[in-house]
Amino acid sequence: MTEYFEIHERDSAARLGELRLENPVTTPGLVDDVVHDAGSQWTPGESDIDGGDSTLTVLPHRAFPGGTPEEVEEAFATEYPDVEFPSAAVVSPDTAENHGTDAYVLSNAQELSGHARAFVEAVIQTRATTPADTALYLPGVATPGNVATLAYAGVDLFDTDKAVLEGLQGKYLTTDGDAFLEDLTELPCACPACQTPRAEFDREDCAEHNERALRAALATVRERIRAGQLRDYLEGQARHDQWLTAIVRRLDQQYAYLEERTPVFRRNGITAASDDTLRRVEIQRYAERVTNRYRNRFDAPLVLVPCSARKPYSDSQSHAQFHDAIQYRGHLVSMTSPIGVVPQELELTYPAQHYDSVVTGNWTATEIEFVSDVLAAYLERNEYPRVIAHVPEDYRPICERAAEQVDVEFEYTVTDHPTTTDSLANIASTLADEPKYRKRQRQHNTIRAIADYQFGEGAGPEIFDDLAVESRYPKLRATDTDGEQLAMVVPQYGLLALTIAGARRWADSSAPTKRVEIDAFVPHGSVLAPGVVDATESIRPGDEVVIEGPKAFAVGRAEMSGPEMVESTRGIASSVRHLDEK
Ligand SMILES: [Zn+2]
Repeated sequence: MTEYFEIHERDSAARLGELRLENPVTTPGLVDDVVHDAGSQWTPGESDIDGGDSTLTVLPHRAFPGGTPEEVEEAFATEYPDVEFPSAAVVSPDTAENHGTDAYVLSNAQELSGHARAFVEAVIQTRATTPADTALYLPGVATPGNVATLAYAGVDLFDTDKAVLEGLQGKYLTTDGDAFLEDLTELPCACPACQTPRAEFDREDCAEHNERALRAALATVRERIRAGQLRDYLEGQARHDQWLTAIVRRLDQQYAYLEERTPVFRRNGITAASDDTLRRVEIQRYAERVTNRYRNRFDAPLVLVPCSARKPYSDSQSHAQFHDAIQYRGHLVSMTSPIGVVPQELELTYPAQHYDSVVTGNWTATEIEFVSDVLAAYLERNEYPRVIAHVPEDYRPICERAAEQVDVEFEYTVTDHPTTTDSLANIASTLADEPKYRKRQRQHNTIRAIADYQFGEGAGPEIFDDLAVESRYPKLRATDTDGEQLAMVVPQYGLLALTIAGARRWADSSAPTKRVEIDAFVPHGSVLAPGVVDATESIRPGDEVVIEGPKAFAVGRAEMSGPEMVESTRGIASSVRHLDEK
């Protein structure tokens, strides 16, 4: 039961939270001034532990040296008493469990510095075995350079010990690394400590600068979490240190840990600056869903085209030209790094219209491998009468690599560039004998494709078997054939928002339904975590959910993952969009 810590926003494993002391601390943040170690002042047998609302009290504990056998640690394990004030328990990754405290202190934190694998394993193991809505404190490790990566891994609380100590040793710390004070000709900072003339700047000043730089770095981290862009920041910032780069890569290999915590859509875009972007959950998840859930429902030939800088693609000049030449006689699928392949029905769906990439006209080997693997998996699953590649020369290696994996013959229609008069005439004549599909079919296929993508394989025809589509793309409204509204497309994210009637169809269908079971109350506006009885494990932040209890049937959007809803005792579990009282 967590009374004194609450998470307000999530950005993958990073969280923006509040340690609810007399003077609240916004996290990720520093707790130097508020941590009170009761352990050192307490002897076993004494019943009173002193503590209060103004501090985070670390309960009596035994500190074990790293490498202590688990059995020994367990034999000497402390029984943590229930206290009436904010408290923290000291744990090691192997012995961490729910002690009913608000925070957990990792006892061997300092030994993890420099060891990416040990660090990632320790944090994941500790987060997995302690409740989701408690804070994780790593004492004595934070520097201006590493806090963004540590917060990204899921650490909430830090202190200034290491930054101050290194300052007193003459090490000047910045977000992009460190330098020995004597090597610096200028001080690359404008903080008050660094106003001291260089010749007079001593180690005390250096310690003060380090502390200020750490505070500023944490403010940057919090702002990045608020914007949902911590990862984009890290892909550049963590490069300054091999340990940090290794942590980011190791975390990417712990896909399940990050995926569970990564929202299904974000307000802000993704900056694709390097091959690291390809390993992001958002990118992998899109590719995984397009190749495992999406199903092509057009009979027309496949027309592969290059992506456009402008998003959605259909708003771009090049795609308008492709459309004019193709005229509903081909199924348009765009090829792009870092997304892979984007069928026309999913061009709005996050993150297909939310990324910016560096266009050099040259694909890296990793990009070619990624996009061609996605294309091959896509072609494996979706059969077409013909496959036409209307792509520039630099896309050819991708098509050729995919062709080696699946038995598909590509017809190439571009000479020079896809939008030259010749190329456009070529694609038009290649498709001249193909029948046109109707605009209505395209709209129906769009609704069903988004449903497959969002809810799971086969969900489209299950939920929208009897379907009419109103209004203009991209603001499509799905109704049944009697005119009752079932869902609408949210153009910003390309996902469906269900009505009560749509939610009932989803709940009654054999498609996998994401359910939040609640107590006997009527939720207005939102469902708080303590009201959740059970929740489907696969629920991710931002997912559409069916909310049901003895007194209500509702539909809304998840604010946290399914496991977190079940474990948490504070915070908003889900918003409520539409509600039927029972
Ligand atoms: Zn400074």
